[in-house]
Formats: sequence, C-alpha cells, structure tokens
Amino acid sequence: MSPDCIFCKIAGRQEPADIIYEDEEAIVFKDINPSAPIHLLVCPKEHYSTFLKTPPEVLPMLQDVIRKVAKQLEIDESGFRMIINNGRGGGQIIFHLHIHLLAGKRLGGF
Ligand code: 5GP
Ligand code: ZN
Repeated sequence: MSPDCIFCKIAGRQEPADIIYEDEEAIVFKDINPSAPIHLLVCPKEHYSTFLKTPPEVLPMLQDVIRKVAKQLEIDESGFRMIINNGRGGGQIIFHLHIHLLAGKRLGGF
C-alpha cells in the first residue's frame, strides 16, 4: 500500500470505484474517463509503480484475471485491446500498475 496512491485506495475500499471483478490479488474497475464503451483498469492489489517495476510472476496472474473478466463480459470471442503505459513518456499518469482493457466498439489497428 502506497499512502498517496489512488488505486491502492480503491483496492483498499477507501475510495469508490465501479468494481466489476475482485479477488485476493487483483481488482478490476471502470476507468473514470472511458475511451471506449468498455474501458476497465486491471490492477494488482499490491502496489508496483510501473510495468518495469512489476515482478514477472504478477503478469500471468493478471492474464488469468483478464481471461475471466473477458468471459464474464462476453468479449472473449468478439475481441478487446490491452494497453500498459509505462512511465511519463509512455503516457502513464497513475503510478500503480494497471492494464487498460478496451472493448465494445470496433477498435482500429495501428
Ligand atoms: P495511465 O495514463 O496512468 O495509464 O491511465 C490512468 C487511467 O486512470 C486514466 O485512463 C484515467 O482516466 C484513470 N483514472 C484516473 N483517476 C481515476 C480514479 O480516481 N478512478 C478511476 N476509476 N479511474 C481513474
Ligand atoms: Zn498503489
């Protein structure tokens, strides 16, 4: 728990969020400023500031969570996009690791 971190506070239920999935290690909630009809933030409950600072074993745990959530929301077949912004130059604003999960409209390719 990092005292000034909003996502730690959401994980600790000290700040509200629209939570759509939770287990012992992870929490998934709606982005407050969505970029797609479905825009979720998939977070470990443990605080890691960036992707590069995250222990590698956390990532398969988040992959399992995404698999479950995608099935729950029935976007496992239709498709979705995942984004991790790493560091300020990568567009990261909240320094608690999160994977953006976007779906619900046809997303263009790069
Ligand atoms: P980043 O740019 O760090 O990858 O993305 C941070 C995301 O968190 C942004 O899409 C932003 O809209 C979202 N966000 C920022 N503050 C809050 C908050 O207090 N609650 C929720 N649900 N989302 C937030
Ligand atoms: Zn945090």
